Amino acid sequence: MTHVGINGIAGRMGQTIFETAQERDDVTVTFGLDVDDADRSVPVYSPDETETALAEHDPAVVIDFTVPEATTTLAQACADAGVGLVVGTTGFEEDGFAVLSETSAEVPLLKATNFSRGIQALLRSLGPALEALSTYDVEVMETHHNAKRDAPSGTAKTILEEIGEYRDFETVPGREGIQPRTEDEVGMLVRRAGDIRGEHEITIAGNDEVLTLQHRAEDRAVFAAGALDAAVWLAGRGAGRYEFGDVIDDS
Ligand code: NAD
Repeated sequence: MTHVGINGIAGRMGQTIFETAQERDDVTVTFGLDVDDADRSVPVYSPDETETALAEHDPAVVIDFTVPEATTTLAQACADAGVGLVVGTTGFEEDGFAVLSETSAEVPLLKATNFSRGIQALLRSLGPALEALSTYDVEVMETHHNAKRDAPSGTAKTILEEIGEYRDFETVPGREGIQPRTEDEVGMLVRRAGDIRGEHEITIAGNDEVLTLQHRAEDRAVFAAGALDAAVWLAGRGAGRYEFGDVIDDS
């Protein structure tokens, strides 16, 4: 049984991870951390009590779905306490990535911009498609709920990075006015509406045909399940940086 804490337990993902864990027998949530109050059946600590929470509960892993500033503060505490970290938070800038890199020198750290298996499959199918359709235009679109803070989504950025493995391009965020498309650009379109869990679509078009790779998360439980799988997989591993793809390769 893997003991985990949840950073951001009062949030949308924190709550879903907590509920999803109740239905599993390989992982148990022993505490949470959040700036907001949360009515959970485990102790919930404020961020300034992080060291106390880690010492009292001695989790194998903390799962973090918060904001970048909260993740980096937690990461330093986890490095000091020898606790592994699963990071789902998106929207990091360079300084945040640097802290996570330092943390992974001390403890096991697994970060993914998307914990759904479908997105992993989509990322893996992108390369062969781009190789076969090397002259076709590529456009990316993502849609999320109206409370999402960062744009484009972390997943969309991961998709753009993957496209960058196969071709040189400039990312063009939407288009306005007279702006004809050039050969070496990828349009990045962002939509925010309602409670949409997360949709990503890659259009590859040319030569009188269109290939569309599309993924739609229908429930946050898909990300929660992936994050919990990652936590169970990460527990007890050595310090280092791990990917969600490593978890999938092993399962
Ligand atoms: P949310 O706003 O519902 O929840 C975030 C929680 O973090 C809130 O409860 C907030 O009070 C808490 N928080 C803020 N500052 C904190 C601090 N200093 N210490 C502890 N807790 C703090 O957001 P959400 O929809 O749950 O998403 C959270 C993050 O997860 C976002 O970055 C989002 O993009 C990302 N996300 C990633 C995946 C993935 O698969 N990797 C999936 C969904 C969402």
